[in-house]
Amino acid sequence: MANDNKNEIPDVLKDLQDLTTSPAEKELSQDEAREFYKLTFPEHTVDTLVDVMNKLNDKLGEDEFLRQLQTVGSYTELVKRMWDAHTDQAVYIREALERIKDTTKVGDSFSFTPSEDDPDKQPFELKSKLVRLDKSLKGADLDGHQAKMMILAANRNIKKIYLYNSGFSIVLRAPSMLEVNLVYNRISENMDTYGRMLGAVFYLYSDFKHKELIWDFMSTLIIGSNLNKWDKGNRLRDNVSLADYQSIMLSICSLMYKSGYEFTHVCANEACKQVTTEVIDLDLLQLTDFSKIPYEILGKLAANKAINPDDVRSYKKTINVDRELTIDRYRVYRKVPSISEYISSGRDFNEELFMQIQDISNPKIIDEYLIYNYSYLFESWISHIEYLDENGEVSFRVTDREAVTLLLNEFQKSDFHEAFVKKMTEYIQDNTVTNIGYLATPCPTCGVMPTNVVNGFVPLDIQKAFFSILVMQLIQKN
Ligand SMILES: [Zn+2]
Repeated sequence: MANDNKNEIPDVLKDLQDLTTSPAEKELSQDEAREFYKLTFPEHTVDTLVDVMNKLNDKLGEDEFLRQLQTVGSYTELVKRMWDAHTDQAVYIREALERIKDTTKVGDSFSFTPSEDDPDKQPFELKSKLVRLDKSLKGADLDGHQAKMMILAANRNIKKIYLYNSGFSIVLRAPSMLEVNLVYNRISENMDTYGRMLGAVFYLYSDFKHKELIWDFMSTLIIGSNLNKWDKGNRLRDNVSLADYQSIMLSICSLMYKSGYEFTHVCANEACKQVTTEVIDLDLLQLTDFSKIPYEILGKLAANKAINPDDVRSYKKTINVDRELTIDRYRVYRKVPSISEYISSGRDFNEELFMQIQDISNPKIIDEYLIYNYSYLFESWISHIEYLDENGEVSFRVTDREAVTLLLNEFQKSDFHEAFVKKMTEYIQDNTVTNIGYLATPCPTCGVMPTNVVNGFVPLDIQKAFFSILVMQLIQKN
C-alpha cells in the first residue's frame, strides 16, 4: 500500500525541507485561508510535478522559489499542493481504476429501461437524491420527529444514498455547524497529540483512529435506512461495508456544499501556467462500477424493500470475487470487513502498538514496529486461513483473530510476503464497487491533458479532502 514514489522527496525540496512549512501552519488571513482550502486533484504525476518544481527553482532562483512556495495561491504553491494530493489512498484508487475492465459502466447513477425484447422487466433508476418535502403532509399537525424531518427536507438537507458495497440505502442529514466544529476539533486534537508522538509513521496509526472518529460523526447523521432495526445497537456499523465509508463521507460533504465545492486545476505546462477554478457538484465524483453488480441485484436495490443482515451477507457474497487465495501451503479466505470489524481491528493494532513501543520518542523503534506488523493491515480482510499438508488436504484451520494475526506475522517473514501483499491489494481494489475521482479534462487554454489519468479519471483522496472541507465551512460561517 506504500507509495514509494511519493516518499521520495523531490531534490528541489530536500535541502529546503525545514523551510518548506506548509502555509496552513502559518497564520492565514481569511482570504488566504479561503484560497488554501480549495481542493486540488492530483491531476499530474509525481514525476511531472517534480520536473516542474525543479524548472521553477532554476528559473526563479532559490530565494524567490521559496518565497513563492509559502505564498498561498502562487503557481509554485499550487504545484506543491497538487504534489501533496498524491496520498497513499490516491495512489490506491488510481490502481483500482486501472483494474476496471469496462469504464462505460462507471458513473454516479444507473438507470435501466427495458428493451422490446424483455417487456416484463421494470424500469428503474439508482441515484443519490435530496429528499423532497412530503406534499401529502401539507397543513397537517406534525409531531417532533416529523417536524424535524420536514424542516430538514424543506431546506434540502436530507439525502438518500445507496450503499453499493453493502446492499441497502441510508438517509443522511447535513451536519450542524456545532457538529462540524466538534469533529474538526477531535481530528485536529488527534493529529496534534499523536502526530508529534509518532512522527512520519503517523499515517498508519491515524488512519484507523480517524476512521473511528469520523464514523462516530457520520453515524449521528444517518437518520433512516431500509436495513431492519438499523438504529438498534451496532447494527448499522456491523452491516455497512468498509468499502462504503468513502461514499458516505462524500455524500455528507455534498450536503454541506449543495451548490458545489471549489476546486483548482493547475496546468503543468510551464509555458501556460493556467490556473482554473471550477465549482464541482461533489456527487459527480462518485465513480460506481455498475458492471460489478448483477442487473437483478441492482433492481432489488432500487426496489428499496426492508433488508435483514442475512440479505446483506448474501449481497456481499454475490458481489465479492476471488475470495480464496492459495499461497505456499496456506489457503486464505478473504472478505470485505464491516466498519465494526475494521474499527475493532484498528483498536487492537493501536493498543498493541502503544504496548510494544516503550520508547515512543524514538521514531526508529516505531518505524520498526510498523514494518514488522505491516501485514496486520490485512487482518480485518481475512475470515480464516487453512494450512494444507503435502497432499493439499486441510491440515488445520485458523479462525481465531489472535491466531490469524500470528499467522500474518509469519507471512511477513516468509519469501512469499511480497506476493501476498500484492494479491491482497488487488483483492481489495477489485472488491470495491465505488471509488472517488474526477473525469479529467484538458487545460482550457493550451489543451494539454493532465498526466495522472487512468481510464479517463483522476483519483481523489476524500478523507484528506474532508479536513479542508470542514475548515472551509467553519471559515465561511465566521
Ligand atoms: Zn495549459
